[in-house]
Amino acid sequence: MALLGVERLDARHGLLQAVRGVSFEVAQGETLALVGANGAGKTTLLRTIAGAHKPAGGRILFEGIDVTAIPAYARLRAGIALVPEGRRLFTEMTVKENLLVAGACGRVGPWNLDTVVEAFPLLRRRLASRAGNLSGGEQQATAIGRALMTNPRLLLLDEVSLGLAPIAVEAVYRSLEALIAGGATIVLVEQDINRALAVATRVACMLEGRIILEGRAKEMTREQVTEAYFGLGRARRAAP
Ligand code: ATP
Repeated sequence: MALLGVERLDARHGLLQAVRGVSFEVAQGETLALVGANGAGKTTLLRTIAGAHKPAGGRILFEGIDVTAIPAYARLRAGIALVPEGRRLFTEMTVKENLLVAGACGRVGPWNLDTVVEAFPLLRRRLASRAGNLSGGEQQATAIGRALMTNPRLLLLDEVSLGLAPIAVEAVYRSLEALIAGGATIVLVEQDINRALAVATRVACMLEGRIILEGRAKEMTREQVTEAYFGLGRARRAAP
């Protein structure tokens, strides 16, 4: 049975339908990369899975149990953790406090202050710093560490490289690759198609709220994904 099942999910922002009939599954240990242009619906989809946005239709199954109606904090306890776009740290609190607060809300498991610092070594000398004073890369590492402190079974990562210097992106992805190698189950939003294809087991491309291409990363080419990303296949099909 899949760890996560998304069935015909719809999500709206007022009259605008941001997610349209989206269905997919994620098995234990898989990494699914969601790609797509700005406004394709990726953030809304992740937030809906995490319980931060109410769906307009469809179902979300976690370990076969329908969690569509349960609140975000209960999904966190069940093992679904979101690293939101923009990180949303408690900027007045220290890194250590950010991590410990999350640990207090989560599940029991292998992640604690020591194991998070091991996974993100750049946090070691920043534990006593105010989160608001960190560099972008350090903030992102704290945000992912905060999610790990809840001992999730499914990690939802929204654009972890957004606004980071290339060297910080490398550091964050090095840590993510170690998590993936350790068996983590991840759904991540990634704008960089090459990186998505390199890091993920499967890639799904969204266009205007729908998944228009999905497959195993190893069996997809950059050209296929780029075409779907910009809706070029559809444009060509529509041409006389
Ligand atoms: P980005 O890469 O820009 O974050 P995205 O693929 O994550 O894009 P969403 O942020 O989910 O896409 O946006 C999907 C659609 O919903 C867009 O048309 C966007 O303008 C709209 N939208 C997103 N958030 C809101 C909101 N809070 N209120 C109204 N419309 C919204």
